[in-house]
Amino acid sequence: MSLLLEDVTKEYPGGVRALDGIDLDIGDGELVGVIGPSGSGKSTLLHVMGTLDRPSSGRVTIAGADVDALGDRELAGLRAHRIGFVFQQFFLMDGMNAVENVAQGMVYGAVPAARRAAAAREALARVGLEHRLDHRPDQLSGGERQRVAIARAVVARPAIVFADEPTGNLDTRTGAEIMALLHELHQDGTTVVVITHDAEIADALPRRVALRDGRIEEDR
Ligand code: ADP
Repeated sequence: MSLLLEDVTKEYPGGVRALDGIDLDIGDGELVGVIGPSGSGKSTLLHVMGTLDRPSSGRVTIAGADVDALGDRELAGLRAHRIGFVFQQFFLMDGMNAVENVAQGMVYGAVPAARRAAAAREALARVGLEHRLDHRPDQLSGGERQRVAIARAVVARPAIVFADEPTGNLDTRTGAEIMALLHELHQDGTTVVVITHDAEIADALPRRVALRDGRIEEDR
């Protein structure tokens, strides 16, 4: 799924200009790293690209659709069916096991519970957790929790996955395993955008966009 940002700005109350004229064209199936120091606008950019937040000005186009022209319900539908998110803090539900957590990634009502559970088990197998289906988050390691979060992000087979510092809470080796999973997703045709402050991780990606003070400093 392609993604186009044209002259996008984002201002927060108080006058902070977190994004300052971003032009970015991400093609279908690309794997892109967004890098920059703390406060450079990475999370804001991810929120705007992922339609979690609207820009102050400029245009965001996802799969040919102008996000500004979509209502909140249509945006929610786009997010539910086409977009997956992975966050540094995992955001898993404590009282639920891995299958139940992953099933949360599918829209309620649209899919019967048994089908959701089957899809969740399949997604967990995809991330190498077929042996941890009944485990709750507190019974899993950090790397396993992030695998569950990735399974939840991809269970509905989204066309694009946004990962915000997905290795930020993990040791180097576990982080490398998570990056390998994101590479696999990319090889399967999913568009993947990874936010990181880790230059080594970004350098290993086919495309690297560097942000500074809300602007694109380098794109290569
Ligand atoms: P990064 O992810 O690169 O650390 P952010 O996108 O979180 O950068 O932040 C960019 C700038 O916007 C920073 O100056 C930050 O303080 C500011 N900012 C982020 N979120 C908000 C908010 N909700 N309200 C006000 N300012 C914010």
